[in-house]
Amino acid sequence: MKNFILIFIIFLSVNVFSQTEQNDSYNFFVDLNNAEGNTLSVDLITPVIHSSTIEYKFPAMVPGTYKVYNFGRFVSELKAFDKSGSELQTFSKDVNTWEISGADNLYRLTYKVRETFGDTTRPYVFEPVGTCIKKDTVFVFNNHGFFGYFDGYLENDYRITFRKPEGFYGSTSLDAVYRNDSEEVFHSGDYQFLVDDPIMFNVPDTLTINFDESEVLVSVFSPGKGIKASDMKDKLTTLLNAIRNYLGGKLPSDKYSFLYFFSNEKGSGGFGALEHNLSSLYYMPDVPRQAATYMVDQLQGTSAHEFYHIVTPLNLHSEEIGIFDFNNPKMSRHLWLYEGVTEYHADYIRLRENIISEDDYIKIIEDKLNGASKYNDTLAFTELSLGALDKHEDQYLNVYQKGALIGLCLDILIRNESDGRQGIQDVINELTKKYGMNNPFKDENLFKDIEELTSPKVGEFIKKYLDGYEKIPYKEILGLVGIDVESMPYSVVNTGGGLSMGFNQKTFRLVIEKIENSNNEFINSLGLKAGDELISVNGANINFMNVRSMFGSMKNQIKKGDDIEIVVARFDEKGNENQIALKTKVKETKTAYEYKLKEIADVNEKQKKIKNAWLGK
Ligand SMILES: [Zn+2]
Repeated sequence: MKNFILIFIIFLSVNVFSQTEQNDSYNFFVDLNNAEGNTLSVDLITPVIHSSTIEYKFPAMVPGTYKVYNFGRFVSELKAFDKSGSELQTFSKDVNTWEISGADNLYRLTYKVRETFGDTTRPYVFEPVGTCIKKDTVFVFNNHGFFGYFDGYLENDYRITFRKPEGFYGSTSLDAVYRNDSEEVFHSGDYQFLVDDPIMFNVPDTLTINFDESEVLVSVFSPGKGIKASDMKDKLTTLLNAIRNYLGGKLPSDKYSFLYFFSNEKGSGGFGALEHNLSSLYYMPDVPRQAATYMVDQLQGTSAHEFYHIVTPLNLHSEEIGIFDFNNPKMSRHLWLYEGVTEYHADYIRLRENIISEDDYIKIIEDKLNGASKYNDTLAFTELSLGALDKHEDQYLNVYQKGALIGLCLDILIRNESDGRQGIQDVINELTKKYGMNNPFKDENLFKDIEELTSPKVGEFIKKYLDGYEKIPYKEILGLVGIDVESMPYSVVNTGGGLSMGFNQKTFRLVIEKIENSNNEFINSLGLKAGDELISVNGANINFMNVRSMFGSMKNQIKKGDDIEIVVARFDEKGNENQIALKTKVKETKTAYEYKLKEIADVNEKQKKIKNAWLGK
């Protein structure tokens, strides 16, 4: 019987285009065996189109990334055909859009897709949202990179048939219609769901973690075999049990997939992950076996962050996120909630459920305070959020620093105001009951809702420190749970959003992967470029230990008029190294703070009570 099915399917695949009945579904076909270099061919038997012209589109942006990537720029040689095989006229309207004439006769589309991994055109695509095509090795299908939609046909069914190399398996939370040795077929009820469920194809290293209500898949691709799925099992089980406990004894979905991609190649400059309703996809360096424990520890925090995203934004969001416009994305003012409160919970749940100690937690908060002090602290967080795609792009990463601190402060304040009875999760639970996955809130109404659920004092905090630009009184708020905050001001060079750093394992030098703000006067007058490897600043060698203070620290205060000389190694097209001294004078400084946190030894009864309530004791 099995053999029969196999022969039958191969027969079907060969004759697929003459036999596939056209209906209201998108029917895609991709043969992973036919990858050429870094490109794959995609075939689509289109749904029946009821107009004379139609636009076929790829997203400019997808949910969760808060950045415009224009995925259409990786698509080429798009051709449209009618049922007889005659070509229809197509016109490339913009980078993401193809207009097709004679669309009422449209039957088939073909095109090629180039992978985003390792692509050198800007903007570099953050790998967790990108595509990877490595013949006979691994394929990452972030589906919006391969599959588009016809304008007005976002709600149609999608059916995707993959032919695959022997031994490959597609790890995903997408529904598999069937799988066998050479083929896998997936189904999605609409485009948004398809985009929300990435697939990783490779020779599988997988395991499942089972709960009464949920089955969790762990899938690993590690070319150097530095990390195995089995390495992740204990830490993830502990984490999921903690989250389950915190969220009231049940995981929020009946299935979930953790897809871990470890890379040994040069990437876009960032490492990290992207969240979905039923999965998350991670892109991390493929560390050697000896460093596996360190990597697994790191990933526990990142995985906590991505998993908590099921709570928000996935099940609590405004219209800008819920009614997502793939080609004209609009920003919500609530990144403090979607990313900030999520990042807060990634650490807080682990503290509350005793995975990390109070000392560990205090160190994390100290790092976030010091990290946030490098960003613009007089920019209202709602403004940052609304401008995250353009005007305030260079401030975006502060959502993981100050955003998390806003979550912490709100949680403590809500505890204090309710005499310990209510926390931020209770408020989120109420809001999710009122709104929820399919019922987005109006962006401008959320603060009013929160104040109604809590107290005027919480409303005042939001007005002043979240929607306003006043500095958060950390000492006062953290003091409510017996944590003392000491801050010491010092001046640093204003480098805008700063620099993203990587490490060249061949030269053992730090390398500038990305300049976050290309308009920064200091960086431009210095002439620093992405790809430069750092050697020294004002004669002192730069290494891992001192790189964070190279433009000023408590011990190394910088003032206007100071000379800065940086020696970098820059490589020409042939790969030859030139050492160049870059010089400038400091024209603009800003105040940063060094924070030190410690537990207050003799707390009063009220502090003790609020702290215990906050820690769930
Ligand atoms: Zn996130």
